Amino acid sequence: MLNFTVGPVMCSDEVCAVGGEQVPYFRTPEFSNTMFENEQLMLKFAKAPEGSKAVFMTNSSTGSMEAIVMNCFDETDSVLVIDGGSFGHRFVELCEIHDVPHTVLQLSHGQKLTKEQLFEYDEQGFTGLLVNIDETSTGVLYDSEMIGEFCKKNNIFYVCDCVSAFLADPFDMAQCGADVMITGSQKVLACPPGISIIVLAPGAVERVKNAKVKSMYFNLADALKNMERGQTPFTPAVGILRQINKRLKEIDAAGGADAEIARVAAQAEDFRQKIKVLPFEFVSESPANGVTPVHPINADAYEIFTELKDNYGIWICPNGGDMKNTVFRVGHIGHLTHADNTTLIDALKDMQKRGML
Ligand SMILES: *Cc1c(COP(=O)(O)O)cnc(C)c1O
Repeated sequence: MLNFTVGPVMCSDEVCAVGGEQVPYFRTPEFSNTMFENEQLMLKFAKAPEGSKAVFMTNSSTGSMEAIVMNCFDETDSVLVIDGGSFGHRFVELCEIHDVPHTVLQLSHGQKLTKEQLFEYDEQGFTGLLVNIDETSTGVLYDSEMIGEFCKKNNIFYVCDCVSAFLADPFDMAQCGADVMITGSQKVLACPPGISIIVLAPGAVERVKNAKVKSMYFNLADALKNMERGQTPFTPAVGILRQINKRLKEIDAAGGADAEIARVAAQAEDFRQKIKVLPFEFVSESPANGVTPVHPINADAYEIFTELKDNYGIWICPNGGDMKNTVFRVGHIGHLTHADNTTLIDALKDMQKRGML
């Protein structure tokens, strides 16, 4: 199998090997040590400010998006949500479910957010902002520094869903002033799904500790308190946390976050050059490194996905909703090489020869 989706993605052999081991009991100093190492490397790679904390949630990243909405905002807030695709829209739905007053900054699919557009919302009393730094459904990368400047000026609590951007696109939590950064195990961390990580800057730690959240499982103050001893309130996905430990150390040994970001960027660039010979168009104005959305000019996007899967053993990522038949996505994250890009392009060229493109 060759997997170019945006998660779950291909794991390294070393990470796979950890997945094949017996899962140990976890209320031990040894497992706490694994968790402390995980926290320290996550804070380092996120470039989190001094005094930040990380919590490891056993849920997919949508669970962490929900936990943040529940723990950081209430009915006294006024939150601005950037909605440029299905992940932005998920934040809108979460605000609706949890009765958080919100305003939607709607962008069309593939459209980037300009400074002029955002500053139209200047000085309007917003207390929070929710954004998906890479809106993975359209592959648009938003400017975390520019949004940070807006949030700082307006004293806004700034939440970054970096689920697919973390370790794929440059992100400096201290520099852009983000209060919260969310990511998940199955994206650039290239581990199986099951764990999502929330990094909280000092202001967010305070906010969460004082929150009155009506939930047992999504109580982040409880998660923070347990993490002081390298533990979680309930049984976590122990095996995946051990795979994350292996992977974070692998990245650290290979030069850290910047080296991994450069690797993903080169993987994306290589693909974007190679695919130019085929009858496809790019759809994103400000493309993120993790994924390239592609519009086939003469063919059905979903049929290309099915054909590659069934007859070539290659997985690309279909799109949902109204983009299902017009756009497919090719991921550049996980254990992939430039030679793998060539294999994919060769398969597409073969389909072209067979009159399918
Ligand atoms: C993958 C992703 C998520 C989370 O999806 P889950 O299915 O809950 O893991 C959230 N936001 C973005 C931007 C993503 O790419």
